[in-house]
Amino acid sequence: MNIILLGPPGAGKGTQAKKISEYYSLPHISTGDILRENINNNTSLGLKAKSYMSRGELVPDELLITIIKDRLSKNDCYRGFLLDGYPRTIPQADALQMILTESGKKVDVVLNISVDDEELVKRLSGRRMCKCGASYHIIFNRPEKEDICNACKGKLYQRDDDKPEAIRNRLTVYKKQTQPLIDYYNKKKILRTIDGSKEISQIFEDIKNVLEEYGKL
Ligand SMILES: [Zn+2]
Repeated sequence: MNIILLGPPGAGKGTQAKKISEYYSLPHISTGDILRENINNNTSLGLKAKSYMSRGELVPDELLITIIKDRLSKNDCYRGFLLDGYPRTIPQADALQMILTESGKKVDVVLNISVDDEELVKRLSGRRMCKCGASYHIIFNRPEKEDICNACKGKLYQRDDDKPEAIRNRLTVYKKQTQPLIDYYNKKKILRTIDGSKEISQIFEDIKNVLEEYGKL
């Protein structure tokens, strides 16, 4: 089963990816992670990627797809994979389809975890930081005393990019970038939308129900 996972920041994509990967023993392939792995292991791909990133540039598509292709050819992907963070654009989706076709594979299903914008703003703007490095959440990980760090008793603050306005901007950018991809997979009839506003365990049940329809696990 070859799965692509989509979802805005704050939708709980990482949590669900971990659950799917464990439950179905599928490798969770996150583009960010494989880039870091290649860079840490000083592979030739990693060195190339590093040369772009150190200049503050995006890693070009051709290099990214080479890295993905390399990763998908590893033994642990023989039963399938869970791809997270790739593709992000239509050309990337086309490139992915091409390398999968080469090895007689295809994307089986695209899970799109969807959460209402205002709920995402609520989740993402709840983060509070402390100068000592500790971080809290006013709903999910509350400090013992409001606005005070448990560890050092320092006063907590909100980072500028955790403020509602900044988060709304991020979500707008995400949507603008991802909508064409959603339409693309929807046309191929492999897009399944998952309601990400439910409890973590219920979301996972819904995902399992969708994946079991495909019956190839
Ligand atoms: Zn502190």
